[in-house]
Amino acid sequence: MKKISILGSTGSIGTQALDVVRHLPEEFSVEVLTANSNVELFARQIKEFRPRVAVLADEAAYKKLSKKKFRGTELAGGRQALIDAAGFGASEIVLTAISGFAGLEPTIRAIKARKNIALANKETLVVAGEYITKLAELCGVEILPVDSEHGAFFQCLQGEDRRKIKKLLLTASGGPFRGKTRDELLNVTIKDVLAHPTWNMGKKITVDSATLINKGFEVIEAKFLYGVDYDQIQVVVHPQSIVHSMVEFCDGSIIAQLAAPDMRLPIQYALTYPRRLPSPIKPLNFWELNSLTFEKPDTETFRGLNYAYAMGKIGGTLPCSLNAINEVAVNAFLQGRIKFLDIFTVIEEVLTRRDVFAPTLENLLEEDRGARQLAERYIELAY
Ligand code: NDP
Ligand code: MG
Repeated sequence: MKKISILGSTGSIGTQALDVVRHLPEEFSVEVLTANSNVELFARQIKEFRPRVAVLADEAAYKKLSKKKFRGTELAGGRQALIDAAGFGASEIVLTAISGFAGLEPTIRAIKARKNIALANKETLVVAGEYITKLAELCGVEILPVDSEHGAFFQCLQGEDRRKIKKLLLTASGGPFRGKTRDELLNVTIKDVLAHPTWNMGKKITVDSATLINKGFEVIEAKFLYGVDYDQIQVVVHPQSIVHSMVEFCDGSIIAQLAAPDMRLPIQYALTYPRRLPSPIKPLNFWELNSLTFEKPDTETFRGLNYAYAMGKIGGTLPCSLNAINEVAVNAFLQGRIKFLDIFTVIEEVLTRRDVFAPTLENLLEEDRGARQLAERYIELAY
């Protein structure tokens, strides 16, 4: 049995990962589960999967949880306990499914404890791509992609020489507002933004999908996972989300990975790699698939993609600044403090006020704090 840890077990990726475990009970034993504050769901997960350690980052939630009785599970609470749990004991692979910057330090701890990483938390590579890839190499651990597009690249590249990659064709659903103009987006509601056409995900990544920031982050993620240049990554809008991404090689061949849009597939492949095992996902029926379409992304309206290419190319602490400002802007949008299109304005205004430094861990942590503070202040004053 493979011993696994799941950070962020109560989220969209976390619950789907536990469903993978449920379908393959002979394959996995769960060592560690962590979440933030969802006590009820977390308690049910502890009862069902009986991890050795279970941690809630939120102290008040932990107090509530600790009133319940669990046999064989050590409970802990607080941010530090969560980071420690990421490096815990016998676990072989850690699925990082916390959302946002909060996922960075637990991931670093897991790598330092020489655990392979099933990486869902793409922000880790956006913020600290260089640092993380070097650290993983130094510690001899593998970073296995969970993001569906990167999971597709990973599958297309099995047995291939990565130096022969000409282009990574990164597919994008286009989000809920594909085809809309800026004017049509002036008054969209939180509910409109959260109605993603093909994927059911956590709130933050769903907003990021609507701005195309998510796709921009995936460009940076692909750059670090596969060691290509930014100019070799091309985003292709594919609204059906059936082709999960493609690799074009130097001889002109293109290899694609297709499947129904179901995150349990890339999660399972990352956890069982290099083995392929049966999965519960719905098979594709090519007699019923009407058409698969492809188009160019509209980066005039959805500027998120441009920011990521621009900040990624300059590098240093700027991708970290972009991530921090975006997290603050997305939160403000979800709290009803700013409108959808203001997310772009906040990012542009605050980014121009950030300097670039070498991407050491210390500078990245400092920049995350600084960019957040400035973004908060900007929103307070401007809206
Ligand atoms: P969710 O918001 O659904 O889940 C986030 C999880 O992290 C929850 O378990 C939450 O706990 C926990 N969490 C949130 N904040 C903290 C914190 N500060 N400290 C500790 N734990 C915390 O997110 P998703 O599952 O959608 O996304 C997770 C990651 O995976 C993101 O980085 C996203 O970009 C990436 N991803 C997601 C995809 C998807 O289909 N959902 C696809 C590809 C990538 P609680 O429930 O208690 O709040
Ligand atoms: Mg994705």
